[in-house]
Amino acid sequence: MPKHTAVKDYIRTIPDFPHQGIMFRDVTTLFADPRGFRMAIDQMLHPYAGMRIDKVVGLEARGFILGGAIAHQLGTGFVPIRKQGKLPGATLSQDYKLEYGEATVEIHDDAIQPGEKILVVDDLLATGGTAAAGIKLIERLGGEIVSCSFIIDLPELGGGKVLESMGMDVHVLCE
Ligand code: 5GP
Repeated sequence: MPKHTAVKDYIRTIPDFPHQGIMFRDVTTLFADPRGFRMAIDQMLHPYAGMRIDKVVGLEARGFILGGAIAHQLGTGFVPIRKQGKLPGATLSQDYKLEYGEATVEIHDDAIQPGEKILVVDDLLATGGTAAAGIKLIERLGGEIVSCSFIIDLPELGGGKVLESMGMDVHVLCE
């Protein structure tokens, strides 16, 4: 029988991380495999062939690994959205809700010019809170989001619906 290997096959699940009862989808095993990593980047790029994208925005931290490779392939710049207090220049901040409490993400206030076409990248979409906060930062700078790309969607947590209600085009490689 021929072997078909999918991106999903390279992702490892770690039970009870970071808390009891959470099944953590660990993409480090995908990133560490040369075929797996290339397959993931190629598949994430596929929907955007021939489209204008000026910058790739990656969400901390695994979005940096994916976003850097995707930006290199597209020949665009890369912009990080980071957790509060990590960026050295002047920033815009956006708060968002976590399961317990709140978090804040930031972007350099000169990282995106009005009208630039943006691709947003992260490894996993759960509630959509992180991506929604990132989208708000990009839109506050006048960026036009072409699409949001993730390796994994956890559909029971509703992030896809949240982003679509914000008018976003969303691509995922697996659920
Ligand atoms: P959300 O804000 O959509 O609820 O959570 C998504 C964010 O949390 C992403 O930045 C993602 O990297 C991280 N995240 C949450 N759960 C997991 C998981 O099981 N695996 C991985 N790799 N990241 C997760």
